Amino acid sequence: MQSLSSHYHQLLGLPSNWEVENVNLSMSSRQVEIRLAFTGKQGECPICGQSCLIYDHAAEQRWRHLDTMQFETILVARLPRCQCKEHGVKTVQAPWAARHSRFTLLFESFAVELLLHCANIKAASRLLRLNWHTVNQIMRRAVQRGLVRRKTETVEYLGIDEKSFKAGQHDVTTLTDLGERRVLEVVEHRTTEATKELLASLNDSQQAGVKAVSVDMWKPFIHAVQELLPKADLVHDRFHISKYLNEAVDLVRRKECRQLDKAGDKRLIGSTYVWLRNPENMGEQQQAELGKLMDAEFRTGKAWSLKNMFRAFWQLGCADAGTFFFEYWSKRIDEVGLVPLTKVKELLQRHFGNVLTWFKHPITNAVSEGLNSKIQIVKASARGFHRFESYRIRILFYCGKLNMAIGS
Ligand SMILES: [Zn+2]
Repeated sequence: MQSLSSHYHQLLGLPSNWEVENVNLSMSSRQVEIRLAFTGKQGECPICGQSCLIYDHAAEQRWRHLDTMQFETILVARLPRCQCKEHGVKTVQAPWAARHSRFTLLFESFAVELLLHCANIKAASRLLRLNWHTVNQIMRRAVQRGLVRRKTETVEYLGIDEKSFKAGQHDVTTLTDLGERRVLEVVEHRTTEATKELLASLNDSQQAGVKAVSVDMWKPFIHAVQELLPKADLVHDRFHISKYLNEAVDLVRRKECRQLDKAGDKRLIGSTYVWLRNPENMGEQQQAELGKLMDAEFRTGKAWSLKNMFRAFWQLGCADAGTFFFEYWSKRIDEVGLVPLTKVKELLQRHFGNVLTWFKHPITNAVSEGLNSKIQIVKASARGFHRFESYRIRILFYCGKLNMAIGS
């Protein structure tokens, strides 16, 4: 027995003031139970770290450890309580587990690794023989460790974007580190208050270090950034602008299509996708189709040309060239006089200062669009999200690129 105890003592990496009292193997329940006893005279106060005299022992607790072969392995111990002059009687921290955890540090590390490498949380939970609730707690603790570590890191370029959380429910707003391509935080809703809460997840020195934020033209996003990050530049996201232009072309097409249809002209019907593609991504047949439509001089074709022309804006080298181009483009829009495009032009005009910042900081939320697919996986694996908080934890666990390791 002596040698078995010392063997387990070594295996568990216990400090010298703990000893293995006994090891019980239950074949019927396929369990190994390792009883530990504290032998020291003094313990560390968990609040101030002072070494204090042992007062008594807390009630027995159990922690699940890594399996021994295929046997579930449990540590059992009564933690000592010490008497601190300043803080009174306090339970000493177990060297093998985090506070309030029912698992040893090694088990939690293993669980985190396995969950990270398993696209399917259910499968990982089965392998670990843990229920949904417990897996959630392990993830939550891991995310908390990671978030604490991240407080010392700087973030220069942010993206703020909205996502749908669950069909028929309100949106969530994500804060992305565009440089590191990671989600920094997620909040419910997309109001000014929610966005401020999102930005407040960065501490003062992180906020001061932000150079620019990529956002669409949604007012609450703009207001929150201006209030909390007054020194950062706003950059209106080019992909959102392209989306507005595409939508404008589609509005023109639909109206024209209806008018032609009334007159028995079916040429525009079914052409939706032709107008969405960029010419360089078209096959020969599609190019021929486009050519025919353009020859017919539809209003939709004119709208499409103007939308397509705007793509050159992003390639210009500086803000002066950008301004010159925009004035030229705006004149063409006015000449053609199509309402949906004029509306987009006016929107861009109102926000033009923060469109031009693109030439200083060529950033876009497209990175977060890439992260979207990862978030999609989390969403798919979690039809059972009743609470937003569980969703948030999983997003940060899988898309936060956090250092969630145990120990310093
Ligand atoms: Zn103390």
